[in-house]
Amino acid sequence: MTRTTEILDVIEGMFPDARCELLYQTNFQLAVSVILSAQTTDRAVNEATPALFDRFPDALSMSNSTCEEIEPYIQRIGLYRNKAKHILAFSKALVSDHDGEVPSSYEELIKLPGIGSKTANVIQGVGFNIPSLAVDTHVHRVSLRLKLVPKGLDVHATETTLKRKIPRERWIVAHHAILFFGRYHCKSQKPDCDLCPLQDKCGYYQEKTRKR
Ligand code: SF4
Repeated sequence: MTRTTEILDVIEGMFPDARCELLYQTNFQLAVSVILSAQTTDRAVNEATPALFDRFPDALSMSNSTCEEIEPYIQRIGLYRNKAKHILAFSKALVSDHDGEVPSSYEELIKLPGIGSKTANVIQGVGFNIPSLAVDTHVHRVSLRLKLVPKGLDVHATETTLKRKIPRERWIVAHHAILFFGRYHCKSQKPDCDLCPLQDKCGYYQEKTRKR
């Protein structure tokens, strides 16, 4: 057992039911939800998508719409004008290049408009059950605080490092568990350090207590 897997065991034990919290019926809807979730909460996305997917349930119907038609459904979500452009372009590309179906390969996904590395990893792991490890703001913060990765690494380097340290068969569960740990326990502003079983392994905690 390594230090990383030891920490992972604790985190997975704390959040055994961690999973994708976005609401969707198909991989197209999952991909659109992930695009919409950038810099906003899953809850805000879940409030908007039922009506959006009722009107545009698949890539073909979305591709035949316009930004002006999409925007009213997502206007409570941050950056909604840009996101409308992204999901429209994504839908058009899916229809023209993939018969309207979301591809499963990382290389194909990453070529699609609106799809970055994090989104491609989420679609692979959640939509296709292909081992992947998406690094979002929560996973990044937790990885730095717990010194799972060296100080100063950016999101992409963090993804590469975590993938090297965590066994491939654990990537999907690890992603969800670390994300939940960051979202509900090791929060950005007020982490629950007093109740944390990882105090002795946490660089952030040790620095904080040294300053007291
Ligand atoms: S001790 Fe605090 S900062 Fe460290 S992992 Fe636990 S909650 Fe996060």
